[in-house]
Amino acid sequence: MAFSLHGVHVPHRKYTAGFPAELLETPKAVTIPLSMHIGAPAKAVVAVGDLVKVGTLIAEAGGAVSAPIHSSVSGKVTKITDFLLSDGRTVPAVVIEADGEMTPDENIAPPVVNSRETFIEAVKNSGIVGLGGAGFPTHFKLNADPAKIDYLIINGAECEPYVTSDTLTMENRGGDMKVALEAMKQWLGIKRIIIGIENNKKKAIEKMKELAAEVGNDCIATVKVLPPVYPQGGEKVLIYHTTGRVVPAGKLPLDAGCIVVNCTTLAAIGAYLQTGMPLVEKCVTVAGGAVKEPKNLLVPIGTPMAEVFAACGGFVTEPAKVVYGGPMMGITVPDLSAPILKNTNAILALTEQEIRTPKTTNCIRCGSCTNTCPFGINPAEIARAYQKKDAAALKKLELMSCMECGCCSFICPANRPLVQTNRLAKVFLKEEMTKEGKK
Ligand code: SF4
Ligand code: SF4
Repeated sequence: MAFSLHGVHVPHRKYTAGFPAELLETPKAVTIPLSMHIGAPAKAVVAVGDLVKVGTLIAEAGGAVSAPIHSSVSGKVTKITDFLLSDGRTVPAVVIEADGEMTPDENIAPPVVNSRETFIEAVKNSGIVGLGGAGFPTHFKLNADPAKIDYLIINGAECEPYVTSDTLTMENRGGDMKVALEAMKQWLGIKRIIIGIENNKKKAIEKMKELAAEVGNDCIATVKVLPPVYPQGGEKVLIYHTTGRVVPAGKLPLDAGCIVVNCTTLAAIGAYLQTGMPLVEKCVTVAGGAVKEPKNLLVPIGTPMAEVFAACGGFVTEPAKVVYGGPMMGITVPDLSAPILKNTNAILALTEQEIRTPKTTNCIRCGSCTNTCPFGINPAEIARAYQKKDAAALKKLELMSCMECGCCSFICPANRPLVQTNRLAKVFLKEEMTKEGKK
């Protein structure tokens, strides 16, 4: 796999940059899916009719790679039901009717942390998962052999257009980030910290330089200012551009001696260590040409999108597309009842002009897709192999290394749906590999 400085220059459209996070009015009800992370779904520990408060545990982790889930409002559990997520999975969800009081659970108290084990346990109990998009349970990521961690990389790239919630974290939550970094230094033996930020976030860079100076007393802490090239925030891309190390295909960052933590995830850990309030709300960028007043909003997890858009004045025009996350990697939402999830950093309502629906033509074999791909993958060849249902060729073409960043689709002059084809090809290849495993 050939790494490079490739990627694409996307229009930034970060119109909400500098907008402070406003508090959303308490929603009438929240729908909290029990799988907002990679790994096993959480298991409900409440029943219909139970009274809960903000921070009350409603579901415990369902396995080693899983995370507990807490109520984001005070009120009454009215339903435990199957819920169709926008990624096509049906998962159990707890519906809570809010009493409007937002009363915190009286058992909330800062965790007692006095060892590596109690630190990892605290992160687990916080319910924190990767808040930058992937939703990987953070405690599992941090529970690595300290001897293998050469670098802790803080991901402040925020390379997706429109999204500004991470920038807001870096500008305003340096205190929480510092608490988390001090704990990681103490309990995970972190010796080198690199905070990676794109160069278009001047204030955040200044703030992060101050933070690096504060935590750099007994370790090497630096800020790496990066060119604003999408997908700078991709984990493997960021590792390469901050350390020069390459994560081998099919391997994890730890195999290259790195752990990558998103800046908002880091701030959430710091906040939990100080207060004991688990992850129950998210700062969400609400933007897109169809939104009347784009904002950054602090939203209880489980709030329906419709209420969040309403708090922004609703729509100026019917959105052509609504997505979770940014326009490059975001997932289309079919229905505005979809709730804010733990890893929702933005919701966008885009107009017809903002989404490209050009006509697809034949591949002209220009090579732009491969030249743009940060991993040097050849999506044009993948599309041909997928058409022939050639699993061996797909494996050879390193399909599974594709991070689905969408650069190839963005750059293709023939407007071929390359990232979409890669997704379908991955499903096909996984099925073929499962069949092979069963033989
Ligand atoms: S960028 Fe598009 S047209 Fe060019 S080789 Fe790739 S798939 Fe073909
Ligand atoms: S979507 Fe996959 S193949 Fe396309 S540029 Fe991104 S990593 Fe490369």
